[in-house]
Amino acid sequence: MEVTKKEDQIMPEKKVSRKKTGAKAEELKEEKPVRKPASKKAEPAKKEKPVKKAETAEEKPAVTEPAVPSEPELPQPRRSVAFIGSECYPFVKTGGLGDVMYALPRALTKQNCDVKVILPRYACIPQKYQEKMIYRGAFEMDLCADGRSYYVGIMEYVWDGVVYDFIDNDEFFSWGKPYTNLVDDIPKFCYFSKAALAALNYMDWVPDIIHCHDWQAALVPVFQQAMFQGTPVANAKTVFTIHNLRFQGIYDIKTIKYWTNLPDALFDYAVLKQGNDDANMLKGGLSYASMITTVSNTYAWEIQTEFFGEKLDAHLRYHSGKLRGIVNGIDVDIWNPKTDPLLPANYDVNDAIEQKKACKKTLQENLGLEDNQDKMVIGLISRLTNQKGLDLVNAIIPSLIDGNTQIVVLGTGDPEYENSFRYYENTYKGSVCSNIMYDEERAHQIYAGADALLVPSLFEPCGLTQLIAMRYGTVPIVRETGGLKDTVEPYNEFTNEGNGFTFDRYEAGLLLDAINRAKTLYFTDRDRWDEMVKRDLQKDVSWEKSAAQYRSLYLELKP
Ligand code: ADP
Repeated sequence: MEVTKKEDQIMPEKKVSRKKTGAKAEELKEEKPVRKPASKKAEPAKKEKPVKKAETAEEKPAVTEPAVPSEPELPQPRRSVAFIGSECYPFVKTGGLGDVMYALPRALTKQNCDVKVILPRYACIPQKYQEKMIYRGAFEMDLCADGRSYYVGIMEYVWDGVVYDFIDNDEFFSWGKPYTNLVDDIPKFCYFSKAALAALNYMDWVPDIIHCHDWQAALVPVFQQAMFQGTPVANAKTVFTIHNLRFQGIYDIKTIKYWTNLPDALFDYAVLKQGNDDANMLKGGLSYASMITTVSNTYAWEIQTEFFGEKLDAHLRYHSGKLRGIVNGIDVDIWNPKTDPLLPANYDVNDAIEQKKACKKTLQENLGLEDNQDKMVIGLISRLTNQKGLDLVNAIIPSLIDGNTQIVVLGTGDPEYENSFRYYENTYKGSVCSNIMYDEERAHQIYAGADALLVPSLFEPCGLTQLIAMRYGTVPIVRETGGLKDTVEPYNEFTNEGNGFTFDRYEAGLLLDAINRAKTLYFTDRDRWDEMVKRDLQKDVSWEKSAAQYRSLYLELKP
């Protein structure tokens, strides 16, 4: 494919980059943009050094193994999958994507999948993980339209059957936690998507499936089709998962052309182009992925409508033949009230009603709320953005304050919401506690100590907080949208079934009504409330079923 050279498009700023040889950093050196003639095809990574092959069973000297109890049989055949995404718990997490990138690969290993997770090596990854990473190799990679090439280092960490390969380049990954702003993030993730593919070639590990996630990795299928043909990685099928359609990686065509050097033909409405002058990275991924998934069935349908489609509904309808919904689960080992070390008291379904009281007492004490088991504690753990239905919550907080209800908020985000929750804490001291922070430990304590958890989202691709709440025997109160609709069965007072309280239209009055129905049951029929708590604790919110669905999808693509 012919690629025209556009040297005078955007001049990269001179940046200071710290290149690394081995795991050791060399001194800072100023890197000037290198001008090379544009190549017809972006070159796959050039190998600098042979990569040390990971030890295989065959290489070990033969020893007679003692008899071990037989493992449960794994489904056959084995499949290899490379996960590519921008965050992964516990290294770096800003939301649900980080949870999924951690838990799904682990669940897939139990489905006989060989999984490698490819992530940026951000400077914000805690030192205790950085120290465990081992240098796998490095190479130079062409990236920009002016021929400038970039260092790609690979640092590896193997943990619990999953291999994590971190793409190392200080020029891109030294700032942010991990995101900064689009001006910096667009080049960062153009680089990351191409480097991830080049790293697979370099490591000589070509998976059956490349599974990429959200806009930050959306250019992976595009680069694969446009620039890696004829290289080993072109043989992999691609799955692209939308965790949140709102974020798409949109920037002007000139900039994205510069940072990717993708052929002009791709900046067309069928692939990357949007509006008059913009390119949309997520749209490109949707166009070229072998299969698209999103994180619940309802959201898979919703995003094909104008309201939820974020201007891509027509594009998604066009590609609907390859679009599926597979609901998220949670890692039930991390989220386990029986073993959670962050809780003041541990419990399971047998002693939850008693032990949750101890968790509630500690929560009330720690947060300066009145220490009183008779009050109903309603939690909210969320990014504070308009997606999460906070306008509805703000509108009804005064109506909730009745002397019997306490509200605990944990979240960070838009100053507008941060300030309104601070205001309510100040106005209703002792009844409202706003924790404007990101704090894993406090999140665990709220999941365990609260009676109910609010998730009244405007839209919610899947939502994890309602799943975690149920796992901790905390009753979710949710709006019937996306994954909330698919995972919370509304309480039926006639049959005494269901897992939570729900409302449909996005109206503050309906949220208030749902909370009042929950309060009525809580205050007037505690036995039935407690039965719901136990049902929630027993609900299967694990990854097992969904991981098996992903596996079937992989097999469909590569039988
Ligand atoms: P989203 O990905 O849209 O932010 P999800 O419900 O899918 O929402 O995932 C949110 C995840 O982030 C959950 O694990 C939740 O516990 C966690 N979380 C959100 N806000 C906070 C916070 N302020 N402190 C700790 N954990 C948080």
